[in-house]
Amino acid sequence: MPPPSEAIKTDILIIGAGPVGLFAAFEAGVIGLTCQIVDTLGRIGGQCIELYPDKPIYDIPAIPSCTARELVDRLLEQIRPFDVPIHLDQRVQSVTQRKDDHRWIVTTERGMTFDAAAILIAAGNGAFVPQRLQLPEAAALEDKDVHYSVSRVADFADKEVVVAGGGDSALDWALALKDIAKKLTLVHRRSGFSAAANSVAAMKRAVEAGEMDFVVGMIDSLDAPDGKLRAVRIKQVEGATEIAADKIVALYGLVSELGPIATWNLDVRGGRIEVDTSNYESSRPGIFAVGDIANYPNKQKLILSGFHEASLALRKAYAYAYPDKKRVHVHSSYDAKLAERVSAAHAADNA
Ligand SMILES: Cc1cc2nc3c(=O)[nH]c(=O)nc-3n(C[C@H](O)[C@H](O)[C@H](O)COP(=O)(O)OP(=O)(O)OC[C@H]3O[C@@H](n4cnc5c(N)ncnc54)[C@H](O)[C@@H]3O)c2cc1C
Repeated sequence: MPPPSEAIKTDILIIGAGPVGLFAAFEAGVIGLTCQIVDTLGRIGGQCIELYPDKPIYDIPAIPSCTARELVDRLLEQIRPFDVPIHLDQRVQSVTQRKDDHRWIVTTERGMTFDAAAILIAAGNGAFVPQRLQLPEAAALEDKDVHYSVSRVADFADKEVVVAGGGDSALDWALALKDIAKKLTLVHRRSGFSAAANSVAAMKRAVEAGEMDFVVGMIDSLDAPDGKLRAVRIKQVEGATEIAADKIVALYGLVSELGPIATWNLDVRGGRIEVDTSNYESSRPGIFAVGDIANYPNKQKLILSGFHEASLALRKAYAYAYPDKKRVHVHSSYDAKLAERVSAAHAADNA
């Protein structure tokens, strides 16, 4: 762990940039708390953006209808006055509590460290991670010959590449890599795709032109006798086939898992964090859970419930950040400082 001097100091560390994490950042700002947000994904918005960006939402108070993407845009606009840093591609890993001042030191898998008075977990259903090949031999080859994303296109130059999957990512990467790979084969369990029609058409044209192959079937086993991938065996409706391969890119979509948070000694049941409904604090004082990740009797996985939970949690969290200060509640309609910040943000937007 880097020394605490390199840690980013903040009142509140918010884990999750979904709708609830974003609204929590607004509430933190309103009551005078600084915060930082981390999210494991490369973009902001949680389920709203990952799962249903263009679907309408009808049950946000005072917004009769907006798409999930519009909701996230509005939440981002709402937190603009507070300039909240949002750190993406950062899955939180470890947490420790300092003995002297009880502050929390949180690290991420990519080496960031935060020093926070309180933690607000707004991690939804957990971190979205790629769905992996369910083959025992795949783990040892991961990041060498078995990939779940493409970070450096050059790694696939002049290789025999198998891209697996039938969604947008699989088709986009198959089309992008076919020109640099020695040979590219797309493998999908059926002949239909869940990808944009123009990508499917482009893929079919490339197959007809002999620029790539398409095989219907399921990857059944990997042949890697000396720790190096040599071939991929595909089970088909009738029989099986084998394709010579140096690399596989398996793009089967995302699944969610609680991940390292499960080891934080919190009271977790059924993958969700048990909380006290008077303040949404977990079994470890100073760590709060709000939104879909929180569990309590009659919990409803609704955005509006998460907003309420975040608002109460932060009022309790204030006492951890400023134990000697008494917080005086001011309605936002009478909050002069807030009004000033909001108009400064609008002025900057219109400049
Ligand atoms: C198809 C669909 C339609 C829906 N329609 C509605 C609706 O109409 N109205 C409504 O109220 N609700 C609706 N919901 C539910 C609503 O989307 C959720 O209640 C809401 O997204 C929960 O927000 P959240 O911020 O708690 O979690 P999420 O939106 O899940 O965001 C959590 C974020 O935390 C991040 N994260 C997780 N673990 C970590 C980690 N270890 N480190 C860093 N980051 C992490 C994730 O990457 C994610 O971005 C719908 C859900 C779906 C799937």
